[in-house]
Amino acid sequence: MSINLSENVQKVAPSMTLAISAIAKKKIADGEDVINFSVGEPDFDTPDAIKEAAIQALNSGKTKYTAVSGIVELKEAIANKYKSENKVNYSADDVIVSSGGKQAIFNALMAILNPGDKVLIPVPYWTSYPEMVTLAYGTPVLVQPSDSTIYKVSVNDLDRYYSPEVKCLIINSPSNPSGVVYESEELREIATWAVKKNVILLSDEIYEKLSYDSDFTSIASLSEEIRDQTITINGFSKTYAMTGLRLGYSISSNKQITKLINTIQSHTTSNANSITQYAGLEALSTNVDFMIDTFKRRRDLIIAEAKKIDQLKYIYPQGAFYLLIDISPYIGKFYGDSKISDSLDFAQIFLEKEKVALTPGSAFGMDSYIRISYALSDEKLVEGMQRLKNFVNAIK
Ligand code: PLP
Repeated sequence: MSINLSENVQKVAPSMTLAISAIAKKKIADGEDVINFSVGEPDFDTPDAIKEAAIQALNSGKTKYTAVSGIVELKEAIANKYKSENKVNYSADDVIVSSGGKQAIFNALMAILNPGDKVLIPVPYWTSYPEMVTLAYGTPVLVQPSDSTIYKVSVNDLDRYYSPEVKCLIINSPSNPSGVVYESEELREIATWAVKKNVILLSDEIYEKLSYDSDFTSIASLSEEIRDQTITINGFSKTYAMTGLRLGYSISSNKQITKLINTIQSHTTSNANSITQYAGLEALSTNVDFMIDTFKRRRDLIIAEAKKIDQLKYIYPQGAFYLLIDISPYIGKFYGDSKISDSLDFAQIFLEKEKVALTPGSAFGMDSYIRISYALSDEKLVEGMQRLKNFVNAIK
């Protein structure tokens, strides 16, 4: 049978980060002593109060369709959170609740892109951005920051990649995978540039609570004009350890954008899971400081461990829970008989020989790096870094 399937979807690779994590989880389930540095989710259990809210919602029959954009109480709570914590004046009508931040981003791109529109994506990027842009019939334009020590883009970088087809710029601070956090003034320069060029800002703030060295700034808080040019994305997965519950949202003060996102969602998934929405409502008033403090401590621990490995270079993470390590000194060399030609080889040989799973930098547009997630216990972090030390020391 020969059928001409979607050429657009065939341009897109499945998520490498999910694939590697699945291999690692299978090996662990089979009893192998694998340290899983590839996971993009907190290792904490979902807080009890949030689970209890989900159980109560289920028991009280909150199992029917909700409004496409979400239950009013949750949308109001999200708008209030943005007003009080993030200093952005949003109303509940600006919020569309979706099945995870991932869906919220995809909906937003579908709502704004026409075929041929370009989206600027700073490198390194979260693995799904370019693929989602392609799925939405846009063209990803990968922006290489000229400062390769801090890996933040500047207005000069954006100017180098700008063309009149550019419709959107994605900013993800704190960043997955680099952990870099943009300062308020840096965001202001970028946002002012975007307003001047009439480029929509898509601000992925999913790691907002995990900013360890400086205060987090929402781009949309910088001025009303900037807010009106921005689609803000956030979610519950990372902050509240709710990855499997699938809850996220987009917020835009532009009524047309919100209407289009609502239309897309109404014909695809309808509403986010009703029970999860009640869990999310509880989450917004749940104190998760212990998780944030633990991640900060682990960031310090992983850096202390990285320093024990001779000449290891990395991007210093100020937020999120990832560390990007430079493996360029090992590319082209051998571990035993196995040649390391790129980051995927590094990840595969490391998993096979030392039983540590991590994500190759090629998933984020940086093939000379690997990404470690430090959302693991202290013991596992130390053991995993010891295995990394043994591995790189054996590379000749
Ligand atoms: N944005 C970034 C930068 C992420 O790292 C992730 C998850 O890994 C998401 C969005 C989507 O998360 P979720 O769909 O679980 O809300």
